[in-house]
Amino acid sequence: MAIESVLSSPLGPPACEKDAKALQFIEDMTANVDLVQERVLKEILTSNAETEYLQKYQLNGATDRDSFKSKIPMVTYEDLQPEIQRIANGDKSPILSSRPISEFLTSSGTSAGERKLMPTIEEEMDRRQLLYSLLMPVMNLYVPGLDKGKGLYFYFIKAEARTPGGLVARPVLTSYYKSKQFKTRPYDPYNVITSPNETILCVDSFQSMYSQMLCGLIMREEVLRVGAVFASGLLRAIRFLQLNWEELANDIATGSLNHKVTSPSIRECMAKILKPNQELAELITNECSGENWEGIITRLWPNTKYLDVIVTGSMAQYIPTLDYYSGGLPKPCTMYASSECYFGLNLRPMSKPSEVSYTIMPNMGYFEFLPHDPSAPAFSRESPPRLLDLAELEVGKEYELVITTYSGLNRYRVGDILLVTGFYNKAPQFRFVRRKNVLLSIEADKTDESELQKAIENASLLLREFSTSVVEYTSYADTKIIPGHYVIYWELLVKDPANSPTGAVLNQCCLAMEESLNSVYRQSRVADNSIGPLEIRVVKNGTFEELMDYAISRGASINQYKVPRCVSFTPIMELLDCRVVSKHFSPSAPHWTPERRS
Ligand code: AMP
Repeated sequence: MAIESVLSSPLGPPACEKDAKALQFIEDMTANVDLVQERVLKEILTSNAETEYLQKYQLNGATDRDSFKSKIPMVTYEDLQPEIQRIANGDKSPILSSRPISEFLTSSGTSAGERKLMPTIEEEMDRRQLLYSLLMPVMNLYVPGLDKGKGLYFYFIKAEARTPGGLVARPVLTSYYKSKQFKTRPYDPYNVITSPNETILCVDSFQSMYSQMLCGLIMREEVLRVGAVFASGLLRAIRFLQLNWEELANDIATGSLNHKVTSPSIRECMAKILKPNQELAELITNECSGENWEGIITRLWPNTKYLDVIVTGSMAQYIPTLDYYSGGLPKPCTMYASSECYFGLNLRPMSKPSEVSYTIMPNMGYFEFLPHDPSAPAFSRESPPRLLDLAELEVGKEYELVITTYSGLNRYRVGDILLVTGFYNKAPQFRFVRRKNVLLSIEADKTDESELQKAIENASLLLREFSTSVVEYTSYADTKIIPGHYVIYWELLVKDPANSPTGAVLNQCCLAMEESLNSVYRQSRVADNSIGPLEIRVVKNGTFEELMDYAISRGASINQYKVPRCVSFTPIMELLDCRVVSKHFSPSAPHWTPERRS
């Protein structure tokens, strides 16, 4: 009886005592949202009372919500840029945080074409770790027996840079995988993965992917779940397998590691894992050599119970492809997080992707919500809107997330729009609606309308000597083939048909566009090969007028009609594709280095 009461939770029966504690923690947090939020704000403001930032706004040591809300403005990254630049340049005084800034996390959101730099402090790693530690206890409620096997996860680190002042700047997951919290994590039977640390911690994406895939294939029968952070990452792994299965099977047949894997630490650890196994090599060859890759995940990893990938937000575009490769396995979206702050988790991981809601954990930061109303007039600094607290939200309404973090962001607009779908205890649950202003996204890249416009303008410069201009354009993220790529539809005005731009010039236009896109896009093209060459499809003259006619026939007003700068609606795609006169691709990769463009 006593054990049973320890091992029970309103969420379901925990798999073990450790899980029971985690589930109890979720209960406590969600039942006391408002109190926890008050405490978190107090902790943050107490700790940062002496910072230049809070002093500038004369908070005078106050730690209550009313003072905070009345004195501290809501800001964007651009507002904080001067402070962030000073920290990057080596100013160690307490500008945003009283604790030393340990590093910068480079967000996939960009500002002026470069990744945003998010200052972070040492203790945040423990907070992230805490959120991770809640994921398996929830998963174990729905999928029993996960302690009887392993997870095949494709995790990667990326190149690091240093700011002028010497601080490391790297993506949050690179920071996490390199942390002691990850590298020396205690053994947990419910969370064993097939990839040894060495294979994850190799910055060369080919060697890292190759060795992780090899481990997954060798341990195929033990694999109970297959995953990556985002859906695009898992599909990239499948594409990698399509291109490299012969070499992988050969390694397994011979028991010797491909010479392309040169990292000594990977070679050393693979030597312990890789043994000749003719039978397995033949099985892989049989499965992979056919044209039909439908269900390949469950054919290669027959005990897979679910795909652990995020398919909400811009990743929803990959659901049909994942279903094709996995025979429709469940795709629990376990968590919602960002470089600025980890937010929360999905308490019903087996729900359909379209029904996924995340519960923000109130201990992770102080969260406020700006009611989202696109038709409302823009507000000014002088009359800022009232932000709501977690405990004040209403079901069915959309809000923009505004956060205050232990690392020193105060009332910072993340840019995510969330819809409240319900409550767990007192905690609102959110559907991720979208990221504001994102027009095109293949994986981590986020291209907005002004970036696309600038890219078009840059590329159009090449058309000048041919007396040609781009009269209209729209775009489309084509993810039917992996890696996905940007497609830009162009309608051209050619003034001198005898001297129209050649195919080679239009190919160069593709490259010129890529060169002017942001660094996350270019990194994906160059370092990760996770985005394919940009394509321009030139359409017949008059196509965009037809597009307008179509919109008007469906009820759009002629006065208010604007060309959509991104399209995905099938009839519109069909209309455009029927009128394509030529297709052009970037002939080479754009320029990218880990260093930031100043
Ligand atoms: P980054 O700053 O590069 O870590 O990106 C964080 C952003 O990724 C968030 O602000 C969201 O826009 C998006 N994101 C993170 N987790 C999810 C999720 N579970 N579903 C949809 N979008 C997500």
